[in-house]
Amino acid sequence: DGHKRELINLCANNYLGLANHEEIVAAAQRALAEFGFGMASVRFICGTHVLHRQLEEAIARYVGADDAILFPACFDANTGVFDALLTADDAIVSDSLNHASIVDGVRLCKAQRYRFANGNMNALEDALRQARENGSRFILIATDGVFSMDGYVADLPTVCDLADRFGAMVMVDDCHATGHLGPQGRGTPALTGTEGKIDIISGTFGKSLGGAAGGFVAGRSKIVEVLRQRARPYLFSNSIPPAMAAGALRAIEIAANADDRRSRLGAHVQRFRQGLVDAGFDVVPGTTPIIPVMFFDAHRAKAMAQTLDRLGVYVAGFSYPVVPEGQARIRTQMSAALTDDDINAALQAFRDARELLAL
Ligand SMILES: *Cc1c(COP(=O)(O)O)cnc(C)c1O
Repeated sequence: DGHKRELINLCANNYLGLANHEEIVAAAQRALAEFGFGMASVRFICGTHVLHRQLEEAIARYVGADDAILFPACFDANTGVFDALLTADDAIVSDSLNHASIVDGVRLCKAQRYRFANGNMNALEDALRQARENGSRFILIATDGVFSMDGYVADLPTVCDLADRFGAMVMVDDCHATGHLGPQGRGTPALTGTEGKIDIISGTFGKSLGGAAGGFVAGRSKIVEVLRQRARPYLFSNSIPPAMAAGALRAIEIAANADDRRSRLGAHVQRFRQGLVDAGFDVVPGTTPIIPVMFFDAHRAKAMAQTLDRLGVYVAGFSYPVVPEGQARIRTQMSAALTDDDINAALQAFRDARELLAL
């Protein structure tokens, strides 16, 4: 009916609240005015602007790697990285809850595949032993840094220890961490004390770091060089627009110095999580800004989401196939853009919605 109303947004990946930060918008606007709308080319033909190289260097420095390579999105980074680096003589050992883009990337690669139960380090060890026994040359362990549907952090110290023992490499997809987790927001390797031990980090500019789009892979120079030669989504898909690179560059600078935003985010996480638990909701334990509220049944999750919308809270219900069957939930996400009043109002809305629905 065309009328507008305000909602409290609890389902954006806007963890630091940078998606409409005025300095980021201004940086993008300047680049747009100066360099135009798009490159009309892939990187290796005539689509490399100085801003692309600057962004690659900045993101590499930020996450503690030698170099980085940009992709149109992290989905493309993950679909390109495995096939470019590994052959049928190699093995990929992948966590069962890894993001769909890793699943697809593994499918596109001829390496032997091993899957281990989510977060189960004994299962990872078994898979590594099997890969070694089967004579694999390179073994790459692939895991999300933060599992996006559950919100918990991968056990990277154990993953790295096992990688050492079996001579494997480690790849971490840090999409739900870069910018807001760990010291200076440098991600789960910094958070878990495994910085420098992770061989490959993939990430996005579509979440904490400004929320626009674009992905990257960071790692040793040799690895990045090979990706530049062979990663198909890099070679055969258009460069990200200069304005987006300029905005992302500014976003990294802001994120690195955003302890104020990270502490506000952390306070919201504690307050909202505790409020839900106190009200008797079934909350998946964790510490990250992803706070899933379990309803198990898909209809209940959907009814709750619809009622919350009427009460002014924007959330999304997730059910099969995005999560396993019988594990329907409302995944809430905290943001530094929210106020304490927003958190209180959202908690009240959760209690009211449950009462209205007699759940
Ligand atoms: C969001 C996400 C992606 C995809 O990132 P895009 O840049 O939006 O393509 C990949 N992996 C994980 C874990 C994600 O959360």
